[in-house]
Amino acid sequence: MHTQETINQSSDSDRMPSESDFGLTMRFHQKRKKGKFREIDAPQLAGPVADTHAHLSMLNHPDYHLARCAYFGVTFVCSITDPTENDALTYDSYALWQRQARKALCAADLDEYREAVPKLRLACGCHPHNASRYTQEVEDHLLAQLSQPITCGIGEIGLDYHYDFSPREVQREVFKRQINLAHTTRLPIFLHIREAHDEAFSILTEEGFPEAGVLLHCFNLDSETLQPWVDAGCYIAYGGPLTFKKSDYVRDSLRCVPLDRLLTETDSPYMTPEPLRGMECGPEHVIFTADMMARLVTDETLDEAAVLVQLYANALSLQDRPPTPWQLRHQG
Ligand SMILES: [Zn+2]
Repeated sequence: MHTQETINQSSDSDRMPSESDFGLTMRFHQKRKKGKFREIDAPQLAGPVADTHAHLSMLNHPDYHLARCAYFGVTFVCSITDPTENDALTYDSYALWQRQARKALCAADLDEYREAVPKLRLACGCHPHNASRYTQEVEDHLLAQLSQPITCGIGEIGLDYHYDFSPREVQREVFKRQINLAHTTRLPIFLHIREAHDEAFSILTEEGFPEAGVLLHCFNLDSETLQPWVDAGCYIAYGGPLTFKKSDYVRDSLRCVPLDRLLTETDSPYMTPEPLRGMECGPEHVIFTADMMARLVTDETLDEAAVLVQLYANALSLQDRPPTPWQLRHQG
């Protein structure tokens, strides 16, 4: 799978071990001490799974991960891009990654999974870290990306007061501008909010929650923080933190979210779920989070298979819509 066309972005010395280091195997690898790894079986899921937030272009071998997604039943992925970073890499390469994934499955005698290579949709938005790089030129480029029918939303956008890589005032301004792009384009927004939930909420209240939908990504806090977002009708996506050993409060917060607004995601290459922390996260890791979520949500009236079907339908209903009238008018 190490084709010339796949771009290797990270230097080998400082990166985490990745499943792609092991060739196209259909197991997972848990990092142990002294450079050793233990093979882990994948959870057996009774339904399809979506990864609603991955950064495919940050992986060394996106094609390899898409091939594994096919095998593990992850048949929809939304990949996040940023107009101030190399968003063109994803827009130009996603179809190639899918083709290479199909080829790799055939080469590994796994032809029966060819058709299961995930459908991809893309989101584009200026991350709060990059807010100080946002200019009119960047916005024009962002609008051009949003006009492409493959684009399903604006994200990730929001506020990050933990790292403060951009001044807060600039973050707020750029967040507002992109909320207004959502009003214009009728696309949903996918939010990255860190240590700024109250402020982000009041900005959205002032600017108006976009009608096409608001997704709060990688939720890893408690019910109290979550409740206003749920009350405002937002979708809530959980990734690796739902599986972390010390995150009972995150698992508890699931209970405030109506089932039809719950989503699964990875934030790949970050936020690897248990029991695989220490490995680079790929979109296929979403099955560990989905497994945990299905077990938490299941009750007497709803079995795990029904929960998984609903979670998958939620992802598609938010991220796999037909083009908006604005996209049809502006299609590049
Ligand atoms: Zn992200």
